[in-house]
Amino acid sequence: MKVMAVNAGSSSIKFQLLDMPSETQITSGIVERIGSENALFTIKYNGEKHVVETSILDHGVGVNLILEGLIKHHVIKDINEIEGVGHRVVQGGEVFKDSVLIDEKVLQQIVDLGEMAPLHNPANATGIKAFKAVLPNVPQVAVFDTTFHQTMDKDAYLYGTPYEWYTKYGIRKYGFHGTSHQYVSEKANQLMGTTDTKVVVCHIGNGASLSAVKDGHCVDTSMGFTPLEGFPMGTRSGSIDPAITSYMANKLNASAQEITDILNKKSGYLGISGISNDARDIEQAIVEGNERARLAFDVQAKQIADYIGSYHIYMGGLDAICFTAGIGENSSVLRQMIIDRLAVLGVKLDAELNKLRGERLISTADSKVKVFIIPTDEEVMIARDTIRISHK
Ligand code: ADP
Repeated sequence: MKVMAVNAGSSSIKFQLLDMPSETQITSGIVERIGSENALFTIKYNGEKHVVETSILDHGVGVNLILEGLIKHHVIKDINEIEGVGHRVVQGGEVFKDSVLIDEKVLQQIVDLGEMAPLHNPANATGIKAFKAVLPNVPQVAVFDTTFHQTMDKDAYLYGTPYEWYTKYGIRKYGFHGTSHQYVSEKANQLMGTTDTKVVVCHIGNGASLSAVKDGHCVDTSMGFTPLEGFPMGTRSGSIDPAITSYMANKLNASAQEITDILNKKSGYLGISGISNDARDIEQAIVEGNERARLAFDVQAKQIADYIGSYHIYMGGLDAICFTAGIGENSSVLRQMIIDRLAVLGVKLDAELNKLRGERLISTADSKVKVFIIPTDEEVMIARDTIRISHK
C-alpha cells in the first residue's frame, strides 16, 4: 500500500511516497518557489535526482506536477495506487488530540487555528485543498505537530498569565515537532525493551525543541504558544524576558511584530555568533578560535542542560536522553558540551561512540542515564497515522 506524506509550506510542497506497512521510502521530492515562473520541482528516485525548472503558479499546479512526475518516472502507473495522503499540520490547538480524517469541517478548523500559526496553518491548508482537488476519493489525514504534547498537565502547559488569556484566547504552551518526539521516544523505548521509562528527546535542528516523555506520554516540552519559545536555535532566540520586546521596540523605533521577527530570524546561533545560523559553520569557527561562535554553542548547551535538569526533577528520574534532527544526529561537539554539563546526574558519554553516526547507544556502560542517537523520521509517523486513521 502506497501512502504520501506531505509537508506544505507557503511556497513549497515536500513529499515522500512510502510503501506501508514496510515503511520503506519509495521516492521523495520537493516543489519550491511556488508562485514563480522559475519554480523548481525535484524528485529523487532509485538513487537519481531529477530537477525541473518551470512555472508553478499555485499549489494545485505543484501537486499535479508531483503526480505526473511519479508516473513519468515509473514510480507508479496510476494515481489510484496512492491509497492515502497524510498532511503535516503545525497547529492543532486543543481541538485535535489525535490525527484526523480531513473533511470540510476539519479543514475549516485548521484554517481557523491559523490565527495562532499564521506562517504555517494557512499554507498547510492550501496543500490539503490542492491534494483533495486532484485525489478527491483518497483519504486525507491531518497529522499535527501539537497532538503528542496534548497529554501535558495544566501545571506544565499554563503560563503565569491571566487565566482568561487561556480561556478566551488559547494562550498556553502547545509544543511542536510532536511527530518527531513521538517517533524518537517510541524508538528509545523499543531499544530499552520497556515502555515504563522516563525519556528526554532533544530534537535539535534549525528549529529545536526538547520533550519529557514519561511511560510513552509527553509531560513537558520546551516550545510553547509558538515555536519561538525554548532555547536558542539557528535563528530563533528561544525564551527571553518578555519585557525585552517592548523595551527594544522603543530603542529601535520598531513595532512589536518587527521585534518578534528579529527574535525569529536574526537571533540564536546567527545573532550570537554574527556568522551563521548553520551548525557546521559554527563548529568550523569554533575550531578557528572564534569566541562568539563558541558562545553560540555554550549558551544553547547551557539552556538545554537546564531543561534536562528540570525534566529530571519533573519526571522523578531519567532513563535516557535521545539526540535527533540535523544537529542532534550529527554534532558530536554539541552533544559532548550538553552531556558534560549533566555530570552531576551521572551521565557519561563514550567519546569514541559519540563520534559515530546513526541509531546507537553512545553512553558508557556505567552511565546512570543512557544516551542515544536516534535519527528521526517524521514522514513514517505521518504515514503510520494516515493508515491508522483512514482504516478506523
Ligand atoms: P530543520 O528541519 O529544522 O530545517 P535540520 O534538522 O535539517 O533542520 O537541521 C539543520 C541543521 O543541522 C543545520 O544547522 C546543519 O548545520 C546541521 N547539520 C547537518 N549536518 C551536520 C553535521 N554533519 N555536523 C553538524 N551539524 C550538521
